[in-house]
Amino acid sequence: MAEPILLTPDTEFIKNVLASGGGDLKKCFQCATCSVACTLSPEDSPFPRKQMILAQWGLKDKLLADPALWLCHNCGDCTTLCPRGAKPGNVLGALRNQAIQHFAAPSCLSRMATSPKAWPLLFVPGIVVFGALALWGPKEITEPREFANIFPLHVLEPIFFAVSGLVLLAFAMGLFKFIKGLRSSGADGSILAGIIPAAVEIMTHKRFKECGKEKNRFWGHLLTLWGFAGLALMGTVVGIGTMAGFMHTPLAWTNPWKIFANVCAAVVLVGGLILLVDRLADSEKRKATTYFDWSFLLILVGIVSTGIAAELLRTGQLVTAMYTVYFVHLVLIFALFLFAPYTKFAHMAYRTVAMAATRKRT
Ligand code: SF4
Ligand code: SF4
Repeated sequence: MAEPILLTPDTEFIKNVLASGGGDLKKCFQCATCSVACTLSPEDSPFPRKQMILAQWGLKDKLLADPALWLCHNCGDCTTLCPRGAKPGNVLGALRNQAIQHFAAPSCLSRMATSPKAWPLLFVPGIVVFGALALWGPKEITEPREFANIFPLHVLEPIFFAVSGLVLLAFAMGLFKFIKGLRSSGADGSILAGIIPAAVEIMTHKRFKECGKEKNRFWGHLLTLWGFAGLALMGTVVGIGTMAGFMHTPLAWTNPWKIFANVCAAVVLVGGLILLVDRLADSEKRKATTYFDWSFLLILVGIVSTGIAAELLRTGQLVTAMYTVYFVHLVLIFALFLFAPYTKFAHMAYRTVAMAATRKRT
């Protein structure tokens, strides 16, 4: 007779899943309707039924390294069809958040970034850095045409490049642990070979299109992603260009990079607002939206709105208001960058790696 297997549930983990969006987990009675309904679930390793039972049992290590968490695009079809109201789509969302908290490094920053109570603390580093620049900068504001008086670009750029380096290091540490976890759970695809096809799938939202009937989420995500990618490209080009001396800011309104940046900002704003309004207008989605989602969306919409407002104030020569709004803009960008490895931002990186590791060899 086979030896009985002793399971040791992690009750703290179950509590965390219940508290972070998976509150209906225990209603699941394993009928498997969800796995049948999910168009993204592969035949040889269907989800999310299995993940529901593993979560009920509190098998943290097995679950958090499970690539299936990242193959789900949270369309909600399984949640709509679940006869018990166990909301499997929301449970997988809660598990993804737990996975990021678990793998991301250093863990103190991860804990801080994922605790709703610590939300105001996300803005403290930016307030300190840019507050110091404002305090020690020139006291008289004489140059409204550019932001150079208080926040000169040659100071801002090294700050942001240094932060980007730290963020990349933190991402690398978290993803390294994650890849080890994926390997232990049997995902043996070559990450190097799969990373570009996976990134293309994500950028085109190919799988997103296959799952769910909801078009608002698709467009909201797609626009936010493309607009943000454009802004990141523009920021890098202008940063390098000004440091190397072949670009000079502020760019004229007619400069192609300026036009490109403004179009991208508008695209992010529209995408972010679609996602925000979509969640606010539907009570079920509102309930399913976690701190992770709200925090990311609010910061993103805040960055773009303050960026546009600062530019308009500069054009209108309203110097004090311009600097105040620009200060808020910088603080929000700093929070988004510094805590990127622990927030919704990290989803994209973890999803890309999981998709690459589970790609079938052709
Ligand atoms: S989550 Fe719902 S649909 Fe899926 S197995 Fe459980 S009860 Fe069935
Ligand atoms: S939310 Fe959508 S993608 Fe995720 S498991 Fe359910 S049906 Fe599949």
